[in-house]
Amino acid sequence: MISIENLSKSYGSKLVLENINLNFEKGKVYGIVGENGAGKTTLFKCIAGLEKYNGAIHCEYGKPKDFLGYLQTEPFFFSKITGNEYIQLLCNARNVIYPDIKEKNIFDLPLNEYAVKYSTGMRKKLAFTAILLQENKLFILDEPFNGVDIHSNIIITEIIHKLKGMGKSIIISSHIFSTLNDTCDEIFLLKNGKIIKTVLKEEFRNLESEMKAFTIGNKIEKLNLK
Ligand code: ADP
Repeated sequence: MISIENLSKSYGSKLVLENINLNFEKGKVYGIVGENGAGKTTLFKCIAGLEKYNGAIHCEYGKPKDFLGYLQTEPFFFSKITGNEYIQLLCNARNVIYPDIKEKNIFDLPLNEYAVKYSTGMRKKLAFTAILLQENKLFILDEPFNGVDIHSNIIITEIIHKLKGMGKSIIISSHIFSTLNDTCDEIFLLKNGKIIKTVLKEEFRNLESEMKAFTIGNKIEKLNLK
């Protein structure tokens, strides 16, 4: 459905993404894992058309922004816009009919209140609700589980399964092993702007211990805690 070819991105003289080659198929869930600053969000912004880059992104349906639901790490809302109005705005942007919101308000958000007054988790849930109503084909979910309560995490996980079953492509960035385990078909490890490893579902069992060894090494011993 979408493939990324030799994508590189620099901010000034700093190379943030280097020669990324990835392929995302329909009906699959992909995880992108990497330390803070590895380049995950930058990669997502490039796919969403929010950043310029070198290389190519090929899509079956045209420009990704026209069929992409992008949940940002910290969704931004203009002041004086209610939850309801935000959803309406995003539906209008895609020419989707504004639905009977009572049935679609899956997280029971106070949609008549200003979105800027929402907590971090509520903002994320509002933005997630809105992209679900847009009839997207591709979803990029940047840390969808962060700051969100456990009940909502269960709902988000189930929705990801459902979207996968509908043939959508989903790309998730997360720092939580259990949720990656529950949802992903394939995980890409990103380090300093490069994909250093691809882990298939059948290899997930070892992912946590491999990551631990890879990340910690003997750092903790050297700390010599007293
Ligand atoms: P991640 O999402 O994996 O935490 P980011 O993609 O946000 O990483 O950041 C990757 C690198 O790019 C970091 O070193 C960050 O400081 C840098 N970076 C991100 N956005 C900008 C920007 N707008 N201007 C300059 N540097 C940026």
